[in-house]
Amino acid sequence: MHNFALPLFLQVKRNAVGHLQENLHLYLPELEHGRFLVLTTAGLLQTLAPKVKILLAQIPAYQVETVATSSFDFAVQVAKQVSMGGFNAVLGLGGGTALDTAKYAAYVAGVPYIAIPTTLSNDGVCSPVSVLFAEGGRKHSFTSKIPDGLLIDTDIILKAPRVLMEAGVGDILSNYTALFDWRLACREHGERPNDFAYLLSAQAVNALLHSRVQTFESIEGVKMLAESLVLGGLSMSIAGNSRPCSGSDHLFCHALDELYDHHLPHGIVVAIGTIGACILQGRPYQPLLAFLRAYGIDINPEHRGITREMFVKAWLYAPEVRKERYTILNKCQLTEAKFNQIYDVMLREC
Ligand SMILES: [Zn+2]
Repeated sequence: MHNFALPLFLQVKRNAVGHLQENLHLYLPELEHGRFLVLTTAGLLQTLAPKVKILLAQIPAYQVETVATSSFDFAVQVAKQVSMGGFNAVLGLGGGTALDTAKYAAYVAGVPYIAIPTTLSNDGVCSPVSVLFAEGGRKHSFTSKIPDGLLIDTDIILKAPRVLMEAGVGDILSNYTALFDWRLACREHGERPNDFAYLLSAQAVNALLHSRVQTFESIEGVKMLAESLVLGGLSMSIAGNSRPCSGSDHLFCHALDELYDHHLPHGIVVAIGTIGACILQGRPYQPLLAFLRAYGIDINPEHRGITREMFVKAWLYAPEVRKERYTILNKCQLTEAKFNQIYDVMLREC
């Protein structure tokens, strides 16, 4: 058995940052008068100046630190600052750079962590993992903690570039193929299933696929996306690993990251990987494509700058990225011809 925690509050609404104090009062009253270390990035202090002002006005004692690079060393240094400086909580405002650092520092220092994401581009928002730059400037996933409270301000999210929300959708979509891979690994590779984690991850993707909200560019759309990303994060927390949300779909993404210097958001590459994984799994991928089309999300690899060569090489390399992760890739004959074929299908149908 392992331990897992759940967030105490999750608010998705207009001006959510204006409700910090009210939420602390209700859910974490011991922090109402606590000292906060606020982590964000320099750019956001400027672009979100009015929101930052509203936020800080509700905290009686705070110190603001900006994160330049989300490195492991910096996160540890922040954890030390939290412990030595007598801070009672860490609050992260921003995207992955600020939040992964804040999350890890709070985890190491053993204090509550409040997250205010400014984008909804991946399920890291509420996952028990921090992705930080470690030795040699390479990204590494570190065990961390999920937030004790989340405030998702739709005013902020709706102003972020659309591609980031598209990426968030892509990251959730991969639960569809990740769950298949996980089940396969339980059946054939002695991995441990967890029905409740499975249920939450399936719920996260199904809520999106079968939603009647036909856009992400509305408060209702943001709420749906945020809740699905949070459910995905919780499913990983309950499973004690990333299996419910990461299968061959993510191995493709990790392989592409290692082989090429691309600038595509994680969730876009994962969505492309999801269609490939779905084809390899022999399952109908048309419903996923129809969904993406309906929401205007283009995952044609060529349109996204992934050439045939990149696509084929990344798939062939994918099983090497995390050898212990058993997926459909362990069951298939992986040939150049097969991935060329899948590339053709995607050029034609995406
Ligand atoms: Zn992901």
